[in-house]
This record gives sequence, structure tokens and C-alpha cells, in this order.
Amino acid sequence: MSEPVLEIRNLNVDYGLGDAAVQAVRDVNLTLHRGEVLGLAGESGSGKSTLAYGLTRLLPPPGVISGGEVIYHQENGEPYDVLKLSDRELRAFRWSETAIVFQGAMNSLNPVHKISTQLTDVIAAHEPKLSSATRNSRAKEMLRLVGISADRMDAYPHQLSGGMRQRVMIGMALALQPQVVIMDEPTTALDVVMQRQILGQLIELRERLGFSVIFITHDLSLLVEFSNRIAIMYGGRIVEDAPAAALYRDSLHPYSAGLLGSFPALRGPRRELTGIPGSPPDLKGMPTGCSFHPRCPKAFEPCPDKIPVLGHPDVPDGATRSVACWLHPAPEPVG
Ligand code: ATP
Ligand code: SF4
Repeated sequence: MSEPVLEIRNLNVDYGLGDAAVQAVRDVNLTLHRGEVLGLAGESGSGKSTLAYGLTRLLPPPGVISGGEVIYHQENGEPYDVLKLSDRELRAFRWSETAIVFQGAMNSLNPVHKISTQLTDVIAAHEPKLSSATRNSRAKEMLRLVGISADRMDAYPHQLSGGMRQRVMIGMALALQPQVVIMDEPTTALDVVMQRQILGQLIELRERLGFSVIFITHDLSLLVEFSNRIAIMYGGRIVEDAPAAALYRDSLHPYSAGLLGSFPALRGPRRELTGIPGSPPDLKGMPTGCSFHPRCPKAFEPCPDKIPVLGHPDVPDGATRSVACWLHPAPEPVG
């Protein structure tokens, strides 16, 4: 496996303080490797966006990081903890090292400015010494990379389709050649064909430019298709983390199996869609022990009492994956 670019260690994020706080992300340990596409899946409210906002320190109040580390490995230079950066260092880190494309990003383009102005402004804010001609040619290059012809540079956002606006946002995220691109449900507002087209293009760009991607969605079928590895979140915790093919073929956590059973098979014979009974947990009254136990078809004696730790399971490919489930107690915890 390639070297790590981002290591999330024991990350905790709360909304609110003291007794009123809800624990939205708990003890998350996750590593993104250089050049990898890491998919993050889970039902609504499982903490995917909170994790993305937390690790880039973009959490809106009352969100607070209550513990952990986010170690960023520069391409050339010493690794550092993103959570310890000053505001000035953080501004440089965002966009230049890590860029994020938010949910519904295509609607966040400023309607009164041309695409060209918005792209060159991002470049100018981080690389003020570049001449305006260089900024312009960089902006054109970014549009070309995401499949938009340079003659659309002078268009206003409303003159572009939803798919094109989303491509502009991706181009903007890539404009400063970041090492890590985080995409939070980047294409859900688009139709399925357009979603796949844009994601396919992003993967191709990743192969050419070498950045790494954290791709967040509740649509596990997209992740199986486009990611190298998939991490599954439930109730603010990572419950399984495995190579995409291994997870699809042989998921170890009953919740992952439930998510996989909620969409049609990509290959092979048709299978019955089973879904997951019940609803996601309420963070204000999390079930004891394994928080999935009230919905788990395989729950047994230790599940309601003891929280399972994320660890490498004792299976043939166990070193490449981790799971938090008493069916696979971890001889070696992760983190
Ligand atoms: P979705 O797929 O719907 O975006 P998600 O997995 O990204 O869901 P988050 O948006 O990270 O989940 O939310 C995690 C939990 O944190 C949810 O239970 C949510 O209710 C809670 N939460 C999110 N924002 C706030 C807030 N501003 N104040 C209090 N709780 C919040
Ligand atoms: Fe199910 Fe128990 Fe595993 Fe939780 S720990 S997923 S309840 S078997």
C-alpha cells in the first residue's frame, strides 16, 4: 500500500458543550493513502459530513473537536497536525493542500460573477504573485480538465447546466493542485448518468494528477464502483474499513451487509433487496454496547453491553481491513 497522506487518529467531534453535547463523531481512526479514493458511506446522520468538516476545521458552531489528531503528510516536508494549525496556516492548508467540494456545491457559485472571475479569484487568493495572464491560463486549463471548453469561461453560473456547474466546482477544487480532495455528496443533485460521468472523469484526473480523494455518499453502489477502499460509519463511529472489492464480496459487519443489501447487485445474479430494519440511532440516546444492536439480525450476548473496538479481524485478508463487531473480536485494535 502507498504511504499515508492523511491520518485521522481518535477523532471526536461534538455539537454543543457539557451535558447538552451530542457526540457526532467518536474515536475515528482512518488513513487516506497517497493516490487512493477512500469512500465514506453510512445512512443519513451517521457523521460523514461532520467528520469531513472536522478534519478540515470547517465545523459550523456549535460543532467542536473534542479530541484527536489529523496528521497531514506534505509531499516534501515534515508531517503536521491540522488541528494545531494557526488560522493563517489553516487558510494556506485549505485549497492548496486539501480542497473540499460540499453538498450542493454547484449552487454555491456566485450568481453575479462570471466563471472566469470565480476561478481566477481562488487562484489569486492563494498565489498572489502569479500574473493575471498565468491565472487566466490556469483557470482555462482547469475547465478543460473537467471537460468544459474554454469559451465558456465568460459564462455566468445560470448559463450552465447543473452538471457543468458541478464540474466548475471540481475544477475550482483542483485549481491549486491539492494533495487531497474531499467530496461530500458531490453529485446527488444530478441524475444518475451525469453522476457516473462526473465521477468517472474525476477518477481519470486523479490517475493523471495523483491526488487522493475522500468521497462521501450514502450511495454505496457508487463507492463500490469508484473507490479503492470503503469505510462505513454508524452512529458516529467507523464500523468497517476494507478494500472496496473485499467489502462488496464479503462484508464482515452486519450493518455493511445491510447497506449492501439495500441496492441491486452490480454483477452476477439478481438478489433480493433486504434493506435494514429500524432507523438510525438518536445521538441523544445512543443504545448501550454496540449501537447497532437493536437493529442487528446477528446480535448476541455481549452486544448490548460492550462497545466493540475497531480492529483487524482474524480472517485471511485481515491485515488489510478492520471491523468493530463482536462477531470478529480484534486481536489487534486499530489506532
Ligand atoms: P447526511 O448524509 O444526511 O449528510 P451525515 O452522515 O453526513 O448525514 P452529519 O450531517 O455529519 O451526518 O450529522 C451527524 C449527526 O450530527 C446527526 O445526528 C446530526 O443530527 C448531528 N448534527 C449535525 N449538525 C448539527 C448541528 N449543527 N447541531 C446539532 N447536531 C448536529
Ligand atoms: Fe451485531 Fe453484535 Fe456485531 Fe454489533 S457487535 S454488529 S450487534 S453482532
